Amino acid sequence: MIVILKKGAQPEAVARLEEILRAKGVTANHIEGATQNIIGLVGDTSRIDVDSLMVQDCVESIRRVQEPYKQANRKFHPDDTAIPVRDCIIGNGSLQVIAGPCSVETEDQIMKTAIACKKAGATMLRGGAFKPRTSPYSFQGLGKEGLDLLIQARKETGLPIVTEIMNGADLDLFADIDVIQVGARNMQNFELLKALGKSDKPVLLKRGLANTMEELLMSAEYIMAGGNQNIILCERGIRTFETWTRNTLDISAVPLLKQKTHLPICIDPSHAAGIASLVEPLSLSAIVAGADALEIEVHCDPKSALSDASQQLTPEKFESVMSNIRKMADFLGRPMGK
Ligand code: PEP
Ligand code: MN
Repeated sequence: MIVILKKGAQPEAVARLEEILRAKGVTANHIEGATQNIIGLVGDTSRIDVDSLMVQDCVESIRRVQEPYKQANRKFHPDDTAIPVRDCIIGNGSLQVIAGPCSVETEDQIMKTAIACKKAGATMLRGGAFKPRTSPYSFQGLGKEGLDLLIQARKETGLPIVTEIMNGADLDLFADIDVIQVGARNMQNFELLKALGKSDKPVLLKRGLANTMEELLMSAEYIMAGGNQNIILCERGIRTFETWTRNTLDISAVPLLKQKTHLPICIDPSHAAGIASLVEPLSLSAIVAGADALEIEVHCDPKSALSDASQQLTPEKFESVMSNIRKMADFLGRPMGK
């Protein structure tokens, strides 16, 4: 981190700044230039709050030369992180396909859908039991009963289960869930992230609707700072001025995040597009971009779905999408599943 001092900064103000920096455990190296004086900070600057330095009288501006995320940073952990989830591994070069309904609705619905997903070649099952809905009058999910139905569907199909948590106080209910999803709306629910940091469950962390990639990595850092290193990042579309799609899939997030972090990356084409017919082309582009996993919404009868009806694939359509996903994965030498 570099602190650029104001011209004519008072020595007392500079001394006060140095005192603050010392207290933060970093070493301050002064460099006197012809036109500007600067201080280079050496040490762990990740805990330094830029705003608290900016308000010091002598400070003109501050530049970070290192990213504020440490544990998620590929610089300090060059090898890819691979996360075992029962028989699957996410991030080892294989391609995982997480499929299932937006919401768990009934036993019949989740069982039919889970069996169809398994038959088509999905490697994990998704389904929301606690649903973050824009309207309080919309279906809110089955809660604990939904989790039990997912566990039943796992028994039937053998597929590991992925489902969303909305409240850290519910964490005990997720003891038998394989991957805990943090939805886009909760990406910056820092208390929830801290609670997940104390767990050892894999977390599928979705990018917020209007969050930068750096903010996504800082949210991952919250979980990692608590001791849980098992995080899968998920790009699920961001808000732009475009109205023809529900969100805009930021495909560049895959290669860019891969450069910046060692954590595996998932793409959710369903919430990105909001349109079932776009799921296949977006899935294929995600594989080409290097995604480790896809999360795709599939419903045994999308027309009757209690949430996200327009983006969920029928089992038949999912089967044909999977056949092209397999072709693309084969072409790129990416094994499916293990
Ligand atoms: C979901 O996966 O069902 C969901 C609500 O996704 P997102 O948080 O990305 O909107
Ligand atoms: Mn959904």
